[in-house]
Amino acid sequence: MTARLIIMGPQGSGKGTQAARLAVRLGVPTISTGDIFRANIKGGTELGVRAKVFTDAGNLVPDEITNAMVADRLAEPDAAAGFILDGYPRTADQADVLDGVLAGAGSALDAVLELDAPREELLQRLHKRAEIENRADDTEDAIRRRLEIYAEQTAPLTTRYAERGLLVVADAIGEVDEVTERLLAALAAHVG
Ligand code: AMP
Repeated sequence: MTARLIIMGPQGSGKGTQAARLAVRLGVPTISTGDIFRANIKGGTELGVRAKVFTDAGNLVPDEITNAMVADRLAEPDAAAGFILDGYPRTADQADVLDGVLAGAGSALDAVLELDAPREELLQRLHKRAEIENRADDTEDAIRRRLEIYAEQTAPLTTRYAERGLLVVADAIGEVDEVTERLLAALAAHVG
């Protein structure tokens, strides 16, 4: 099967970790918008300078910047046979743009994976990560802001993907290996 996938789940659900592991197992690249922004901010590029004020506050980077960045990345040869999008789309407008970009290339999504975890567990994991990684956007306010945006703007996208028969939900609680196998099994069952 082709693997044109989105992985969704609130911050702290283990989405980034699982995306990287699935990418290895499925032989496709991960495209993480958060990682691309962080790399650009670190490298001091123009994109990084434009994005930093938004990422630091836990706000979304404007669509005109984010959509163009993702379209460029999807056009690279390694994404031709599949990809796992991590952190994108986050809004209905981004989801529309993604559909258009894929349709323009004659392709479409195969599945949308959603990692499901209770809010208490998420907050605990995020605070732990803040201590370990020292991310500029892991402050109390920015964490709260990101969870709010996820609930308001990103979570509703799952309804839309479910209506299109693309949504595959897996429980995010458990050992990292266990969750990876759970996701792969759910995906295999879905694509049949
Ligand atoms: P993440 O690592 O996915 O939590 O992303 C870190 C930050 O990058 C977010 O809080 C946003 O500021 C920005 N970002 C990542 N993906 C997007 C996106 N799809 N749209 C807008 N901003 C994004």
